[in-house]
Amino acid sequence: MNFVIIGFGVAAYWAIKTLLAEDNGCFYFTIITPECKHFCYKSFFGNYLLSSAAEDMPYPYEIIQSSENINFMFGKYVTSLKPDSQCVTLNTGETIFYDALLIASGAGCSINSSINTSVNGVFRFDSIDSVLNLRSYLSSGKKKAVIFGENYYAFEMTRTLLKLGMEVSIVCEGDYPCQRFLSKDIVDFALRSLVFEARVIPNNLIKKIITHNNSVSAVALTDGDIIDTDIVGLCKDIYPKTDFLAEYKDNRGKIIVDNYMCTQMPGVYAAGDAAIVENEPYTLSYGWLRAHTQGKIVAYNLLGKTKKYSLIPSLRMQILYNPLIILGQTVDETKQSSISRYTYKNDVMGIYRSVVIKDKKIINALFCGDLSNTAVIEELMSSNQEINDISEIEFYLKIDDKTENLSSTKFCPFCKTALDFINKIDNGTVFTCPVCYVDLKILKHNNLSELIPKVM
Ligand SMILES: Cc1cc2nc3c(=O)[nH]c(=O)nc-3n(C[C@H](O)[C@H](O)[C@H](O)COP(=O)(O)OP(=O)(O)OC[C@H]3O[C@@H](n4cnc5c(N)ncnc54)[C@H](O)[C@@H]3O)c2cc1C
Repeated sequence: MNFVIIGFGVAAYWAIKTLLAEDNGCFYFTIITPECKHFCYKSFFGNYLLSSAAEDMPYPYEIIQSSENINFMFGKYVTSLKPDSQCVTLNTGETIFYDALLIASGAGCSINSSINTSVNGVFRFDSIDSVLNLRSYLSSGKKKAVIFGENYYAFEMTRTLLKLGMEVSIVCEGDYPCQRFLSKDIVDFALRSLVFEARVIPNNLIKKIITHNNSVSAVALTDGDIIDTDIVGLCKDIYPKTDFLAEYKDNRGKIIVDNYMCTQMPGVYAAGDAAIVENEPYTLSYGWLRAHTQGKIVAYNLLGKTKKYSLIPSLRMQILYNPLIILGQTVDETKQSSISRYTYKNDVMGIYRSVVIKDKKIINALFCGDLSNTAVIEELMSSNQEINDISEIEFYLKIDDKTENLSSTKFCPFCKTALDFINKIDNGTVFTCPVCYVDLKILKHNNLSELIPKVM
């Protein structure tokens, strides 16, 4: 079967890897990607930029590289898809025919068309090419950055530039960052590290980029302020990269799929950030784990093992040093009756955890600062279990005050899976993430623990 894949990110990689593990040579793969090299761990861009050993990072590409049945088309992208003729057209004019097609073109950051992005010093943090360009730009000793946006692209870029010793300001649209999906009290916990290290400029947008010798020198904000800067990070609004298709999309450009990742076009699947499953909340329709699961589902269905997508919609991200997980759509208590929220807060440790229950079922959970027991709550949600004993939930939410920060659960830095077991692992131990299979090493110092890839 001639299997064509648009993009080579998380969903594509896991679809191919799963197929290769079980396939007996009946798939021929054509992978089209505009980027210059393999890189399917976008959430690791920050560390990639910081690492001197970046080129040696342990990306598990061996399986793909060893297969003779794979044709990589680097530096090329799809400009149109014709489902009736079962073919895609590339920017080079080439036409590629398929028996089965996977759209895994992901997402990027949108640009306000009035902002001039063709000057030196403007970067998006959404592709390996933009990260490599930023790395070479930084080598000439830049000092200040203004980041426009408040999503994981923005926070990861902020964390990275702060680590490089730069002065960073974040411009956000509302009264405080992430206002669209988080309440102020939660953000106060999540943003503790941010407000100490970066400057947050609320109620603003970037109106204009001011240049000197065709390089960024300042930004003009909508409130009239001018901020001097060497670098502008455009991380505002994530959008699906699906311009090559006019139909079969929702009003935000996401390709609509059913629970088997099938689109309405025969033989065409879509997965990851480019896709939306019917009835999925839009704000939770992006993310690493979701793309990983959906990529695997495409493979299983191509292999005839019917598997349905049933992951709880979630957001897993890090705001500088603070991990944050949201499970299930955020609930507006003022608009919903018969719901109860159970909360555990610890101001000293910077922990905020809550669970919302409606008709005896957990409909939303939020973990900020400490991720332990997220897997238990997620399991209760996905099995739709009735909660008859609230004290059980309170037990899972509460953190023992005597617990040292050292033992707090952390995310895998690649796939953002909460690794509940790392608090039992000794300093320096190497282990493999059970989801993305990257080898990680745990480093514990000064009451903090950090997970890094083995080679670093
Ligand atoms: C800096 C950063 C931090 C992140 N942090 C987190 C986080 O904390 N938690 C989390 O869950 N997620 C995070 N993410 C998001 C996560 O990486 C994505 O959700 C995930 O990569 C989506 O996988 P995907 O396969 O759908 O798309 P991608 O991994 O984005 O891959 C899409 C591929 O398609 C290619 N492509 C695009 N258009 C075309 C075209 N027309 N033709 C051919 N190829 C095309 C792209 O170049 C790319 O190679 C982060 C992302 C970034 C950039």
